[in-house]
Amino acid sequence: MRTPRRTLLLGAGGMGMFPLALYLRGAGVRVEAYDDTLGEPMRSKLESVGAHVLDEPCPIKKPDCIVRSSAVPPDGDMIRGLSALGVPIYRRGDFVAELISRKRLIAVVGSHGKSSVTGKLIWALKQIGFPFSYMVGASFRSAAEPSGSFVKSPWVVMEIDESDGTIEGFRPWITLALNCDWDHVDRYEDHDGLVRAFSDLFSRTSKRVILEKSLSVKGSLCLKKYCEVSFFRGTKTPADFNEANHRAVEAVGEAMGLSFDEVDFSLFPGMERRQEVLFEDESRAIVEDYAHHPTEIAAFLEMRRKVFPERAMKVVFQPHRFSRTRALAPAFAEELSRADELMLMPTYGAFEPYEAGGAVENLLGSLPPRLRESTGVFEDFHSLSQAIGMRSQAGAPDQVLFVGAGNLTKWAHAFASLHCADGTEADAFGHYARPRLSESTVFLENHPIGSMTTMGVGGSAKWYAEPVNKEELKTLVDACQLFGLPRSMIGRGSNLIVPDHGYRGLIIRLRGAFWDSIEPRTEDTLIVGSGAKLNDICKFACKRGMVGFEFLEGIPGTLGGALRMNAGAMGWEIFDLVEWVSFLMPDGRIMEIPGCELEVGYRFCREAYDGIALRAKLRAQGLGTHTEIRKVIDEMFRKRSKSQPRQASSGCVFRNPPEVSAGWLIDQAGLKGEHVGGAVVSDLHGNFILNKGGAKASEVIQLIRRVRERVKDSHGLLLEPEVNLLGESWNRYLS
Ligand code: FAD
Repeated sequence: MRTPRRTLLLGAGGMGMFPLALYLRGAGVRVEAYDDTLGEPMRSKLESVGAHVLDEPCPIKKPDCIVRSSAVPPDGDMIRGLSALGVPIYRRGDFVAELISRKRLIAVVGSHGKSSVTGKLIWALKQIGFPFSYMVGASFRSAAEPSGSFVKSPWVVMEIDESDGTIEGFRPWITLALNCDWDHVDRYEDHDGLVRAFSDLFSRTSKRVILEKSLSVKGSLCLKKYCEVSFFRGTKTPADFNEANHRAVEAVGEAMGLSFDEVDFSLFPGMERRQEVLFEDESRAIVEDYAHHPTEIAAFLEMRRKVFPERAMKVVFQPHRFSRTRALAPAFAEELSRADELMLMPTYGAFEPYEAGGAVENLLGSLPPRLRESTGVFEDFHSLSQAIGMRSQAGAPDQVLFVGAGNLTKWAHAFASLHCADGTEADAFGHYARPRLSESTVFLENHPIGSMTTMGVGGSAKWYAEPVNKEELKTLVDACQLFGLPRSMIGRGSNLIVPDHGYRGLIIRLRGAFWDSIEPRTEDTLIVGSGAKLNDICKFACKRGMVGFEFLEGIPGTLGGALRMNAGAMGWEIFDLVEWVSFLMPDGRIMEIPGCELEVGYRFCREAYDGIALRAKLRAQGLGTHTEIRKVIDEMFRKRSKSQPRQASSGCVFRNPPEVSAGWLIDQAGLKGEHVGGAVVSDLHGNFILNKGGAKASEVIQLIRRVRERVKDSHGLLLEPEVNLLGESWNRYLS
């Protein structure tokens, strides 16, 4: 295969795809990257090497080929849609095998430890200045070491994945085989199947096969006659796997005619999620490891027992894939019984469909009675962290080990954050969220938000964020969920009163290029981001001759706030224009919901109340000339200027009761000019409370209460607030 000039990578944030993106960019290939679960720091890393990150799986220019990760199903909608481009679509492994077919490949294979050994080998080769390209399926624990790289050299170092069958395309120069335990039971019916896959790779190896000693006697590993074979000594006990890995790296050096004698291996940064110590003090260690096979679990737990023989070992285990869990359940249970306390998380299916036989509960029956009774399955982080318990300086020290290859990494880091912070969940939230956000995302602690509202009263938010895109928004929402931290949105703050004591959770504002965009879709429709100002939408529509947007002039909010409030004026409401809205729902899904299916009422939209409005498609009521539309806008402006005050306010404070306006009732009750401190009822419009300067939120609230009571006394009607009180229920203040 000739190196393509332009590729589209699907599932680009995955541990296999990301190093490939780095390799391709290094080789000068234009890379467009899509991943529907792309988070930070992956997005920034892709962008920093010049990959173009797409928000939809639609390439900007036709690529020469498409490469998909195994997490992207070959028969799914995404691939079906992209097949229309008529370019080859490869599985990652097949593509890489062809891409490097003319290179001298150093291949690392095995059921366990591939990434650790490949990472160490790469690092050692770099230390001695040997020129080579590489790809490794895990991140180094040092930001200075990328997981993929291209240099002009005949040599490539890679770990080869046996899980999806693409191993068949590789023809290494040197193969290092670390071990061969039955795994990937969905592909290999039995141990012999896996042995055959490795043997075939050995027979395609040109220069040398390096085997862990015991492998030569296990199974029927077939070695090509003229290929050299050498051996390294594996583990004596499961716990000494780090030493065995080291011997494997030296064996490759020797096969290449290189020496690592001068390399100080104590400086090797290690690989993320491999024996990674997330927190440690005299009372507790929290360690995460990727072990997801019984052999790996045995090795890791034994090794940790040696590190802290006297400390209680609390193990949190999440099985990876239903097929593996079903096939190896008794072996998992046996190895996990080394734990003093065991906690389980639901099986991580990866891309496998749910299979009852592979559910984590199936391990329980094989556990020894000591653990069977005490072991629970935890579906939420809060109950898991309660079950483990916080460390106590007085109590016996322990070690908490998070073991597995699924999404338990999130909980492991969240749990460690609870220890690194000053003990409160709000602080732990900050500790956890910050490294997961790009530098472009504004993320501030104790940020004044009252002054950001049009009323200009109230205190600070414990956390304030302006996520730069929807992945970062999801990260923030997800982190709030993990730590049970309340969150709320702010648009322009034109319908919002911030209490003087502020907000104890996270305030999110959708601001910046990603959220403010207003783009024409057809001659009478626009796609508008939630952060766009209503006034800008009105101007934009007017320029394009789109009728129906005129009433937005003079409403000082953003589209997000307007959707939540179903903002309206002069007989129009925003939902008169809405064709669909996309929301980030509380369960993390993004849903595009047609306007006619939304639960919308007077100053209310249920879905924007529960979820976060991201963007909407707005349709004009017709087309007209710029002059005609401008005339309507000017007329509305005139009316508004006559009837509404210009001073600081939150717009209408109360909802209009049926048949009568709240402003008229307030006027009739003789409340115009009524004031509490700096808060005063407008002389021009009774439903406006103004901040005459220096008002406190408590004064505004007190005035609202007074107006409400007086209107009740005079007209027997109880006005309901339209304006929002951030993070609080009005009931608390008005009843
Ligand atoms: P904010 O006030 O910041 O927030 C309002 C609510 O929306 C909050 O609950 C917030 O959490 C939520 N929210 C914000 N963004 C999102 C999002 N992306 N997803 C989900 N929820 C979100 N209103 C009218 O209807 N008609 C008028 O004519 C009118 N005139 C006004 C005149 C003045 C001088 C002022 C100060 C206000 C006026 N308002 C009017 C009120 C206000 O401008 C509107 O309600 C506006 O739509 C609020 O938008 P915002 O961006 O300021 O929202």
